[in-house]
Amino acid sequence: MRTTFDALIIGAGPAGSTAAILLALAGWSVALVEKQRFPRRKVCGECIAPSALPLFAALGIEQDLTLRAGPHLRRLALMRGSDRVVSDFPVAPDSDYYWGRAVGRETLDTLLADQAHKVGVQLLQPCAVLGLLGGPGAWRCDIRDLNTSATQTLRARVAIAAHGSWEALPSVPPQPRRPRRPSDLLAFKANFTGASLEEGLLPVLLFDGGYGGMVVAEGGVTTMAGCLRRDKLDVLRRENPGASAGECLEAMLRGQCSGVGETLNTASRQGAWIGAGPINPGIRLSSGDGLLRVGNAAGEAHPIIGEGISMAVQSAWLLCVQLLSVDTSPDRETVGEAWQRLVARRYAREWRLHFVPRIRLASAFAHASMHARSSALLLALAKRWPAFLPLGSRWAGKIRCAIDPAEVARLAQQRSDYEAL
Ligand SMILES: Cc1cc2nc3c(=O)[nH]c(=O)nc-3n(C[C@H](O)[C@H](O)[C@H](O)COP(=O)(O)OP(=O)(O)OC[C@H]3O[C@@H](n4cnc5c(N)ncnc54)[C@H](O)[C@@H]3O)c2cc1C
Repeated sequence: MRTTFDALIIGAGPAGSTAAILLALAGWSVALVEKQRFPRRKVCGECIAPSALPLFAALGIEQDLTLRAGPHLRRLALMRGSDRVVSDFPVAPDSDYYWGRAVGRETLDTLLADQAHKVGVQLLQPCAVLGLLGGPGAWRCDIRDLNTSATQTLRARVAIAAHGSWEALPSVPPQPRRPRRPSDLLAFKANFTGASLEEGLLPVLLFDGGYGGMVVAEGGVTTMAGCLRRDKLDVLRRENPGASAGECLEAMLRGQCSGVGETLNTASRQGAWIGAGPINPGIRLSSGDGLLRVGNAAGEAHPIIGEGISMAVQSAWLLCVQLLSVDTSPDRETVGEAWQRLVARRYAREWRLHFVPRIRLASAFAHASMHARSSALLLALAKRWPAFLPLGSRWAGKIRCAIDPAEVARLAQQRSDYEAL
């Protein structure tokens, strides 16, 4: 098996698989290392913003995605207690993709990783990264195959961190464990059958100590996901002895939020709640270790705006545009440290331009949503000023894609040429 690559990518979430597909189609040799077996459930609200849909089409997974995704998401609601306000989503400029859709992460991530494999990426899964040494131009990565326990060393000129935000990579010197904080936001998700959520509606749930959302995803299954402060969870646990953390959240929402109570009245949960976190919103683009970061590894918006998948794909694309823009082949000596520093600088400039404003907006919205007074104010504002929610969706980036449509069309062509070979 090949062990030396142009690029090594750690993590096969939407960011890592996107980068892998783009580089492989451009002729790079790519290793994509993923520690989990797919398909796997993942804590996520599973809404795909319209801005990401043309990118998925160009990457070659549109047909399967469209077949499986839930209905077009045309309307957005804010719900708090018995109060609610509903508004239309703004319509995206691309007439093929006016509205977002929702699809299970077990499906989306598997489709993308399979596509990466099909276009020639060496998918190493399930494989754990044991250590990452070296730097731009000469990376060395030790991995362990989790099926056989065999270890091997991979070498690459470029290394891309796409491992999300929940764990550090082994290359980073072990940090002292961050102490638990009452304000930690823990994340949860569950699926329900038989729920009665209005077709095409995406309710955002505001409650003391957290926020969440519901959506109809593939097969008519309703996904509920949300974040809850640790101190609020402790209170709920005392009120619901023996219940899991997710069950505590569900009981609270069924009781306190009439929209949830009505939606889940006739529903049954499919499997257990899954949990993760604490989540880690913020910007960590330049960590000084020479790794190029994409997706949540580079920066993360509070999930209340449901933009993480789209940002992951767009950030990977922005990086690859820079990696592929220089007139050089990846196996030349030029793909060394100085060249990668230049790529990193150009990528960082683009990344900040497109993502910093929405990360800040998401943070302000999330914090306002978790407190009684400010969330009541949000609802009042949305009622008095009908443009508030559509405008907020636009500012959150729902319908604006950072990637030049000509780039997207070029990639789609490159992929169909590859498939025709
Ligand atoms: C409660 C909640 C609701 C959300 N709702 C939405 C929503 O509705 N819409 C939306 O767009 N976004 C949503 N998000 C955000 C979205 O889930 C993330 O932004 C997105 O998954 C980021 O993609 P990524 O590829 O960067 O990372 P991930 O999807 O986290 O993928 C990282 C991958 O790397 C692998 N990995 C990690 N470490 C290693 C290692 N050492 N070696 C090998 N592999 C490794 C992991 O197994 C994983 O598969 C939500 C998030 C939460 C918490």
